[in-house]
Amino acid sequence: METELSECAGVTAVAAAGLPAASGVSAVRNYPAAVAPVSPVLSLAAFFGAGAPPVQCVLDAGESKLVTSGRIAIALALRQMRVGAGDAVLVPSFHCASMVEPVIWSGATPVFYRIKSDTSVDLDDIASKLTAATKVLMVTNYFGFPQNLSAIRAFCDSRGLLMLEDCAHCFLGEHQGKPVGSWGDYAIASSMKFFPMFEGGALVSSRHPLDAVTLGSAGKGFEVKAALNTLEDSFAYGRLGLLKILMWLPLAGKDVLWRTIKARQPGSTSALAPGSSEGGFSFDPAWLDKRSSRFSRTLLKLVSLPRMGALRRRNYLKLEQALRGIAGCQPLFAQLPERVYPWVFPLLTDEPAQVFDYLKLRGVPIIRFGEYLWDGIDAKVCFHSVDLSCRVMSFSCHQELTDQELDWMIRLIKEALQLRGAPT
Ligand SMILES: *Cc1c(COP(=O)(O)O)cnc(C)c1O
Repeated sequence: METELSECAGVTAVAAAGLPAASGVSAVRNYPAAVAPVSPVLSLAAFFGAGAPPVQCVLDAGESKLVTSGRIAIALALRQMRVGAGDAVLVPSFHCASMVEPVIWSGATPVFYRIKSDTSVDLDDIASKLTAATKVLMVTNYFGFPQNLSAIRAFCDSRGLLMLEDCAHCFLGEHQGKPVGSWGDYAIASSMKFFPMFEGGALVSSRHPLDAVTLGSAGKGFEVKAALNTLEDSFAYGRLGLLKILMWLPLAGKDVLWRTIKARQPGSTSALAPGSSEGGFSFDPAWLDKRSSRFSRTLLKLVSLPRMGALRRRNYLKLEQALRGIAGCQPLFAQLPERVYPWVFPLLTDEPAQVFDYLKLRGVPIIRFGEYLWDGIDAKVCFHSVDLSCRVMSFSCHQELTDQELDWMIRLIKEALQLRGAPT
């Protein structure tokens, strides 16, 4: 345990050197841009899903409001639940800061509870942390694998707690025949983690009306940016070849438009889009009542969910089958159950610092969820959270990865794992 934790500290120390806590790692060591896209980029195939089996999604759980990020949806859920100063919100110790920031914004106190080695919530630990101030239990369906939601719902009902179901990793899926998001009083999703979108999140409720949540437009500049960024990302990775040519004029026109907007609103270009779309964990309440862009809302309707679900499963299984049994690593989840549609493929590694550095330097798409835990979270608060924070390397398995990209990723991951013990 000591070695693992100190080794992990090495990763974080390098990553965090001289930068604000919320900065992404890749900016830090000047790693090159990912060679294969970390998250989905737009392709024409995205709209055609004939033949893939039907899937349920979080938006099927109930009424929904489409906002610009998952963290904004968390804040709106807390506001709907009238959470404020004097209240306590139970938050998992394994988290990203964008799950905690809205709790701080609400005025409530986050109380961190333990998870088990397989990321399931530790209800005994939660029970031991309940006080008269405890109002909400936030539950995360990590990596697309639903928690035992019915049991957690029953626990909340018996203790008089409100339940906030975090489906940021779990846009698709079900539990006991009902779509994910059906179990919480409120659920949140991060559409931009699953769709080729620059921005997008959702607040969902199967139990409470959302009439009181009124959203307004974030403005023309935002609408333009949301659409063009998605197209540009797609072009950057060589998708949408023909469309690229058709789009040349509008893209050139974008610079003109951009300069115009800048000239009109001095110093306000960053406010055109939320920080949540730029890779950090920060929370900006200015985006609370802003509707997701028309472009994102249209994609949400048009992109094929059956194709997304089937390809995510296929790509996950391809990575799992190639890497299972290799020394120095182990898939975080022993198996991929039916009707689970993963966000990423999480792999437990014995030498995280070495593996991460080797792969990032070569542009492998890799995500480290929970890399930075909230101040004060250590092995005494939750050993498993610290261990997972340190050792889980998550590899993209989204629907827009090609077979060649996956084969290349597998080859490099195997190379990285073979370096074990060798000096870097
Ligand atoms: C990404 C994430 C969020 C926040 O979603 P954003 O859309 O990035 O604001 C919330 N919970 C979890 C588990 C996440 O990974």
